[in-house]
Amino acid sequence: MELACLDLEGVLIPEIWIAFAEKTGIDALKATTRDVPDYDVLMRQRLRLLDEHGLKLPDIQAVIAELEPLEGAVDFVQWLRERFQLVILSDTFYEFAMPLMKPLGYPTLLCHKLVVDDDGRVVDYKLRQRDPKRQSVRAFQLLNYRVIAAGDSYNDTTMLGQAESGILFHAPQNVIDEFPQFPAVHTYDDLEAAFIKASDRPLSL
Ligand SMILES: [Mg+2]
Repeated sequence: MELACLDLEGVLIPEIWIAFAEKTGIDALKATTRDVPDYDVLMRQRLRLLDEHGLKLPDIQAVIAELEPLEGAVDFVQWLRERFQLVILSDTFYEFAMPLMKPLGYPTLLCHKLVVDDDGRVVDYKLRQRDPKRQSVRAFQLLNYRVIAAGDSYNDTTMLGQAESGILFHAPQNVIDEFPQFPAVHTYDDLEAAFIKASDRPLSL
């Protein structure tokens, strides 16, 4: 039995924080896990910036509501789900991601939660667990699934390493150079071919 695990931001949808930074003009909010590998350091920085600028959850959600999946992502998800059971493993938050799940057909999404006060101020965040992507893959393997995983940045690399096959998609050159053990592809066509190659079943494009 095989399972496909995909990262979300940068793989199927734009980076939500970057889109929000562009809309608000707060350049410091453009930092992602590509730039700051320590996720907690990155999130504390984001929450501090939101507070400094008096920005609340509805402001962020208004921007997210205008975003669309990356070009080709909807067709790719459809292709993948015809051949694999699919689980999205993301370090985003349900409060951010749900509007973008609709065009993707609401695939299963495991991610985190924000802590928001009565005024809509984002006061904290709750990680589902430590090293959540790798732990999810481990759990699926205990259920006798072999896992093929794809992601684009540092926070995906333990997931890719734990999976039977890990694939870098849309990854920046520094991540590709640092993790040469993972094949790196840049188009959905090549990602489909990589999934077929990684599968232990005779699949076709
Ligand atoms: Mg990503």
